[in-house]
Amino acid sequence: MVLCKLLGMGIQMKRLLIKYASEITLKGLNRRMFEDILVRNIKDRIGKEHRVEKESGRMYIDTVSSELASRLAKVFGIISVAEAEVVEKSIEGFAAAAIEQLKQKPQISTFKVETKRADKKFPMESMEISRRVGGEILKNIEGLKVDVHKPQCVVNIEVRDKGYVYTDELKGVGGMPYKSSGRGVLLLSGGIDSPVAGYMMARRGMELTGVYYHSHPYTSERAKEKVIELARKLSQFTGRIRLFVVPFTRIQMEIMEKCREDELTIVMRRFMMQVAEEIARRDNAMCLITGESLGQVASQTLESMFVTNSDLAMPVFRPLIGMDKVDIMDIARRIDTYETSILPYEDCCTVFVPKHPKTRPKLEEIRRSAALLSVNELILEAADNAELIVAEILE
Ligand code: ATP
Ligand code: MG
Repeated sequence: MVLCKLLGMGIQMKRLLIKYASEITLKGLNRRMFEDILVRNIKDRIGKEHRVEKESGRMYIDTVSSELASRLAKVFGIISVAEAEVVEKSIEGFAAAAIEQLKQKPQISTFKVETKRADKKFPMESMEISRRVGGEILKNIEGLKVDVHKPQCVVNIEVRDKGYVYTDELKGVGGMPYKSSGRGVLLLSGGIDSPVAGYMMARRGMELTGVYYHSHPYTSERAKEKVIELARKLSQFTGRIRLFVVPFTRIQMEIMEKCREDELTIVMRRFMMQVAEEIARRDNAMCLITGESLGQVASQTLESMFVTNSDLAMPVFRPLIGMDKVDIMDIARRIDTYETSILPYEDCCTVFVPKHPKTRPKLEEIRRSAALLSVNELILEAADNAELIVAEILE
């Protein structure tokens, strides 16, 4: 009813044509599962009332809204979203729509036509369709030229169950559907690196649970708000993220009191990992994720990572390990976390940094130092007192 009214007012129904990762279509027997997860994620993002139609490697959504496409472009697994016109499957039908769409782009002087023919019953091959529609365009619009190598505009024709013509295609974020590859605990600080690390694992389909260590009153409420905001920014891609804010002051105080100054950082990092592992266990997650990059700071040398990992059962994923800072910053800008990350609020690591942290810690020495504290009790206490926050962007 509402829809009829809208259409009556001249608002056009569009058909969004969604292309998704070819990796999904290669999944054999699991393909259906990946596709179903993708459909669920799409509906979570744009609303359950939308119908998602599936057809060999494509999905379609009919809508009158002009903002759905940009939201869909941020759903992992989606490679592109095009606003397509549904046309009669004939050269005349394709050409009329192509001419109409190109006329809306007077700034363009070169084009090419690309055709995909999934409907093999259609009596003409792709090349022939492209050639003939191209010819019609040239006849009808003055000043346009064909450029097959670097066209300013590509006219796409798809011959499927229905005929489609589109010239605008929004690039999607790609990757694999979120929640298709288990759950991991992301150690999310307020820095530049960890949100990027989380993004990369989420883009491969891993569901994220965030953990942030907060050292009240040494770290401010604003530092905590900043991390919540980072989780919110990530949720543009993932949908809601659960973030545990873990009180870390007692652990840090005890480390300060009982351990040597040059061992503070490494002992603290072992605690961070162990508490994260405890939270992961309780949350049915199977791995930890950090934003570490080889050699970036003292705690990110190979020796340090060996010592922080040694008493953990779960794998620790460090997707940024081989990346340079500038490349990490580029991704942070692209995913819109950078501006939040560079806000100058202190975090728990910057408050308690030793002047000369060990860069080559020895496992046995660090184990002995950590054992001066009641490790298990501290881990359980921190995990028990974690505050759960749900971060999500409301659109
Ligand atoms: P980032 O930019 O992600 O803060 P960093 O370069 O500042 O990283 P470190 O401070 O050594 O490096 O932290 C290394 C990793 O440890 C971070 O990427 C993050 O995964 C985790 N981490 C550090 N501080 C915290 C914290 N307060 N809460 C949760 N995780 C943290
Ligand atoms: Mg940091």
